This record gives sequence, C-alpha cells and structure tokens, in this order.
Amino acid sequence: MPDRIVLSQPFIEFEERTAVDSVLRSGGLAQGPEVAAFEAEFSAVAAEDLSCVAVNSGTSALLLSLLAAGIGPGDEVVLPSFTFAATANAIVRAGATPVFADIEPDHFCLDPSAVVAALTHRTRAIMAVHLYGHPANLPALTAIANTHGLLLFEDAAQAHLASYHGRMVGTWGTAGSFSFYPTKNMTSVEGGMVTTSSAAITQLIRLLRNQGMAERYRNEVAGFNMRMSDVHAAIGRVQLRRLPAWTAQRRENAHFLNTNLAGVVTPTEVAGARHVYHQYTIRVPGHDRDRFGAELAARGVDSGVYYPIPVHRLPAYALQLDLPETERAASECLSLPVRPTLTDAELSRVVVAVNAVATAGTGSG
Ligand SMILES: *Cc1c(COP(=O)(O)O)cnc(C)c1O
Repeated sequence: MPDRIVLSQPFIEFEERTAVDSVLRSGGLAQGPEVAAFEAEFSAVAAEDLSCVAVNSGTSALLLSLLAAGIGPGDEVVLPSFTFAATANAIVRAGATPVFADIEPDHFCLDPSAVVAALTHRTRAIMAVHLYGHPANLPALTAIANTHGLLLFEDAAQAHLASYHGRMVGTWGTAGSFSFYPTKNMTSVEGGMVTTSSAAITQLIRLLRNQGMAERYRNEVAGFNMRMSDVHAAIGRVQLRRLPAWTAQRRENAHFLNTNLAGVVTPTEVAGARHVYHQYTIRVPGHDRDRFGAELAARGVDSGVYYPIPVHRLPAYALQLDLPETERAASECLSLPVRPTLTDAELSRVVVAVNAVATAGTGSG
C-alpha cells in the first residue's frame, strides 16, 4: 500500500530549526528583534504603507483589531456563519453582537446583498472572511461599508497572499487578521498578524498585546499578554520567504485538479480574484458527503469538512436563522489535499480516487 495522502502537513526544515536554535542561543527569547523583523518583512510583502503587529494567534489578531477600532457592547458586526468559530468568538469577546449573513455559492464568502439585508441602526462593522483562501467580494463590501459608514474588517487567517484586483487581502479595510497556526499556508507554530494602515490602531494594538505598556511598568491601558515570542517569529520569517513559491505550487496543484476531476463541482476563482487555495474544496451534490469522504479514505486519500456545522448552529450560539446557501455548503463541501508538498504521483492518485468514487456513486439521491 502506498502512503496515505494527508490533507495538511507542516513543513519544518533545516532553516526553521537553525533559526530557532540561534534565537535560543541568543538568550533573548520573548518579544524582541525577531518579532520586529517579522513585522517589517510581512508589511513589505502585503503593502508598503501598512503597519503589521504580530500577536500570539489569529484569534488574538481578530480580537485586538476589533477592540482597538472601538467595537464593543451595543455594536453589531455582520459576518458569515460559514467560517471557523474564532471569527464570531472574537466579536463576542470584544463585547459586540455577531449578525450572521449568508454566503455566495460560487466562492463560499459573504454575499454582499445578504450583508445589506442584515444591516440595522446598530451595525458598526462588516467582518469579511476569505474562506479557503478565496478573497471575499472586497469591492462590493467596501462600497457597502462606505455607503453606510461602517468599518470593514478582514479575517485573512486562510488567505496569505490572496488578492482582489491586484490588491492584497488585509489591506482593504480597517484591519486584517492573519493566522500562523500549523495547518495554515505558512506557520510560526502559533501566531497571528494584524495589518492596518491606521497609526492609531497600530499603536493601541501594540499596547493591548503587552499589558498596556509602551514603557515598562507605566501601563497606559488595561491590556493582555498576547505577545509573539522571538522563537515563533524566527520560524515565521523563514516560512514567509517560502510562501510565494508555496502559493504558486498550491495554485498549480489546484489547476491540475480542476482540469482532471470529473463528476464533482470544482472550486471557482472569481474574475479579478487571486485564490491561494488554503483548502481545495469541492461540492458533491447527489452524493452522501460523509460516505464520499469515507470512500476516499478507503483509497488512501484524506479529505476534510470545513465546516460541518455553521457557526450560528453551534451550541455556543444556538441561533435559528434561515441561511440556505450556508446550510447547503455545510452539507456538500469536501476539501481535498492541495498542499505544496504533494508529488505528481500523489496528485494523480487524488484524481483517480475522486473520479472513481464520483462514478461509483455514494448516492443520497
Ligand atoms: C485559523 C483561523 C482563525 C484563528 O486563527 P488561530 O491562529 O488558530 O487563532 C480565525 N479565522 C479563520 C477563518 C481561521 O481559519
């Protein structure tokens, strides 16, 4: 039997180990020069006039951007329900109210017309999620935010180097949040980054991540400890250098799958959008999705379901809403391996397995 083809596989090599070792030998382990260098290098990649603030997770990046922009109790933030719970959790922990809107079926991101329908006199912001690495409809969402005087936030946890009309995600709105969790397109083991062009937000997030201190023991605001360590930043810096080639390889792998898969609905890349395929997500209408995944597993191909339960129906939220495209996506979506470390032989095995299962049928009617 050939090896199983796993969905995600963190790539940590000699350069990462060397970078960690040199930080460990330096004696300065906590937030220091590596974090500052990582921030500078990330902004050089994203957009030149952008500030980047590194924190200890993508969730912290979301929470601190909301808090620093003044989102809090009484405010409503419109977001998709078809996302990872962290997006909504950050809004709740900022003290605001998440308002879930439906998605567009072709790219699984917020439907701008559903956002407009969800607006009330309490709406303060829109939180776009670039799910699977496909940018949300940023031109339309920016227009809505401008028309209604709202802030626009971007959850770019899955979308490093994705862009719309050539402009990077994370640079369109008030603030963008990236994650460096091990399964993301690049990792620092755990970590996150806020991107913003606002000097005031940058300054407040720098305070909030460090107990409210710019100067030691002169705490200006009540903050958190959400710092990134130099050990994590050293790994992130190496991975950031690898990211462009990895992204190109993900796109090439996706193109191969698009061209060769049959009998399933392959992902769309909307005109003007650059998809970075954090996940390569197909739909299997007419099939029992879970049985489809089990049949792939029996053929040595792993797959994943992101996400089987929309956030509004999770026990933590327990809302009864009518979000038909969200429900349909949750029951039909299936993510296939697309990681940059796949070999040509593995990609071909993914195609053979998916096409065989799609033809044999796992009928749900
Ligand atoms: C991973 C992820 C997050 C949270 O990032 P962490 O670094 O795990 O805290 C938030 N939103 C989305 C869409 C994610 O995929």
